Amino acid sequence: MAECSFSGDIRDAKDSKLMRKGIPSSAARKHNRKRPKSSIEKLVAAWLEADGISFRTEVRIGKCHVDILVGKKVIELNGCYWHCCHRCYPKKTRAQQLKRFRDISRYQYLGRRGYKILVLWECDILSQPDQTRKQLNAFVV
Ligand SMILES: [Zn+2]
Repeated sequence: MAECSFSGDIRDAKDSKLMRKGIPSSAARKHNRKRPKSSIEKLVAAWLEADGISFRTEVRIGKCHVDILVGKKVIELNGCYWHCCHRCYPKKTRAQQLKRFRDISRYQYLGRRGYKILVLWECDILSQPDQTRKQLNAFVV
């Protein structure tokens, strides 16, 4: 896939062929729900359990499914490749830009429904587990 920097705005993206052909987000999410839990999901779930925080996983909120829900707080665990982390993938393809836009619109959708959202990235969870766990605790209390 050719690298290109995305210079248009979201309206251009929506009009583009890519968005129509696009990444099958609903199919992808459905696939995600069926796959075995990733190592980051297991790790974060273990942290919450160890701290006695009750949570639910793969919860449906309207048209979205969220990874972890604690009360009205959503914790999204983003794999760097799948969600196009800014640090790991600073130079994004157009398709990757569209994935980011789709994530942002999900967060806005959840925010409008009164949910608070914390996004934890795979690279942070793995490289700075202590700091990430502190961030998680501060968010859920
Ligand atoms: Zn990353």
